Amino acid sequence: KANRKYHPDNTVIDLGNSATVGGDRLAVIAGPCSVESEEQIVGVAESVKRSGAAALRGGAFKPRTSPYAFQGMGNEGIRLLQEAKAATGLPIVTEIMSTDNIEMFEMCVDVIQVGARNMQNFDLLKQLGHTTKPILLKRGLSSTIEEWLMSAEYIMAGGNDRVILCERGIRTFETFTRNTLDLSAVLAVKKLSHLPVVVDPSHACGQAWMVERMSMAAVAAGADGLIIEVHNDPPHAKCDGAQSITPDQFDALMGRLGALAQCV
Ligand code: PEP
Ligand code: MN
Repeated sequence: KANRKYHPDNTVIDLGNSATVGGDRLAVIAGPCSVESEEQIVGVAESVKRSGAAALRGGAFKPRTSPYAFQGMGNEGIRLLQEAKAATGLPIVTEIMSTDNIEMFEMCVDVIQVGARNMQNFDLLKQLGHTTKPILLKRGLSSTIEEWLMSAEYIMAGGNDRVILCERGIRTFETFTRNTLDLSAVLAVKKLSHLPVVVDPSHACGQAWMVERMSMAAVAAGADGLIIEVHNDPPHAKCDGAQSITPDQFDALMGRLGALAQCV
């Protein structure tokens, strides 16, 4: 079902609030790694909306490496995302970790994110195949393009054909960057599949100063969208501060992407 051989036309996915991904316009999803407070999420939502973001991201259930690290605000985080949506109209994108939450996510969020660590959680993928919400499927930390597309197939096999693929960097021998952004994968999956592809330069590089250039490179490579971590106060972020850009930096980036879109 994900194979372009049987579906030659590009799939365009509606995110809500008249934002789409996979069409002519670049879709930029922006927001903090984690929801931390009402003031934080509503404030960031308002700024990224002014800069032209298509949707708001924010984690409420976080897959942290250490069990002692901040695990996210949980249900309260979802409620705060809804407040930010009510204030701005931006559709909300947030990560699901457990099949226990599927019903709640189906009711409360616009796009359900499957994180890199759950890309091959087949039980989760199968159950998401029975939902009606678009699924943002991140590429696994060490997954091949074939494995990634097969995970999309798991969701689509259940009847949900609205899958957005997300390249977020893969594990290599290199340690300077958090991961290695595989931009050739954007070209590969767009050739093999009709599904839209977005790039996450924040998790790929792990460093805020690299986000602008890698975003531009992703657009030049043909990405349909970007998902970018934006935080009001990166040095004090509860999660992923080092890779988060400020609302002002995001605004400048959106200006440069607008200019770039005219050339590619
Ligand atoms: C995230 O988007 O905050 C996240 C945890 O991403 P990934 O699953 O790509 O590591
Ligand atoms: Mn993050």
